[in-house]
Amino acid sequence: MTDRRSGTGERLLSKCANPECTNRFLYLRGGRLVPVKIEAPAGVPGAPRQELFWLCPACADTVRLTVDDGQLTAHRVALPAGSNSAA
Ligand SMILES: [Zn+2]
Repeated sequence: MTDRRSGTGERLLSKCANPECTNRFLYLRGGRLVPVKIEAPAGVPGAPRQELFWLCPACADTVRLTVDDGQLTAHRVALPAGSNSAA
């Protein structure tokens, strides 16, 4: 099978980048746009590229996006419970 997916950024922007979340990207007012640097997979020539992903308001503060081997991964991060102290 030939899989010719390229430029998946726009497609991914149609919903929250957190795979466990089904919130759809309806408006720009809520949530956060996150630029993610995507390295070319090992053995594949090419410069790293940057894509924009969207996290919905519910995920913007609790999910961190990373890319491992070209695969977007959402990590849940702990919220500083009721404290304003920046780490
Ligand atoms: Zn979400």
